[in-house]
Amino acid sequence: MSRDMIRDFVSESIKRGKQWKKIRLLGGEPTLHPEFHEILNDLLQYRNWHSDCEIEVATNGSGWAVEAVLKKIPIGIAIANSKKTSNVQPTFNSFNLAPVDDPAYRHANYKNGCSVMKEGIGLNPLGYYHCAVAGGIDRIEGNRLGCAHIPYDGDSMASVAERLCRLCGHFKDGHFIPVSLRPRMLEHKISPTWAFLYDKWRRDKLYQKNGRASNLTGYQRRYLPGSSPVFSQKEHLQDSVETTTTASQVL
Ligand code: SF4
Repeated sequence: MSRDMIRDFVSESIKRGKQWKKIRLLGGEPTLHPEFHEILNDLLQYRNWHSDCEIEVATNGSGWAVEAVLKKIPIGIAIANSKKTSNVQPTFNSFNLAPVDDPAYRHANYKNGCSVMKEGIGLNPLGYYHCAVAGGIDRIEGNRLGCAHIPYDGDSMASVAERLCRLCGHFKDGHFIPVSLRPRMLEHKISPTWAFLYDKWRRDKLYQKNGRASNLTGYQRRYLPGSSPVFSQKEHLQDSVETTTTASQVL
């Protein structure tokens, strides 16, 4: 995400009186963002306005570059370090096992998502989502469902959840089950729909690299040269989103 996007998140949060309990910086690996410390300063400005907000950096703690950045994180910023040593994370579960590939879920109602939705909304370069994982799924599926602005209270974002949770392995397992009782994930599994989506995503990237235009979300259009990131009621209402008391961001 660009620093402008973070600044707009901060200013829109303050303007609309959003008192987030926690703001988490997720990745990829957020500490490798070229403006990581400037972004932390932007978020600290938000905390000057709302002192109860916890700011947390989720890191894999892997490699000298990451370790060097972690040492410079200011006091008062929490660090959640998974201390990753391998590509296989036994206590994680894969969102690449799509429920739609499993006949047991053929009658599932995806509109309410899973318990992750209670943790808060997600923001990535495509916009706001009902959770951070959903934003990651949309980046691969390419339907550009991100909302251009922070959702209003009571906006359920059910239609976006219905589109994206059907692809999410977390819908099937894990988040309704304590970590200690989950099956350990000893290999990275991908269901057929995800194999297809990754293949399509790689082809689309090649297509864009060759100079063809891609679809942009309303959120992305705010950051085109000459655009003004002014709040648009109409633009907002065209999207639907979940509002919670916690914000999660994906860099
Ligand atoms: S099922 Fe996946 S995308 Fe849907 S709310 Fe849960 S974590 Fe988010």
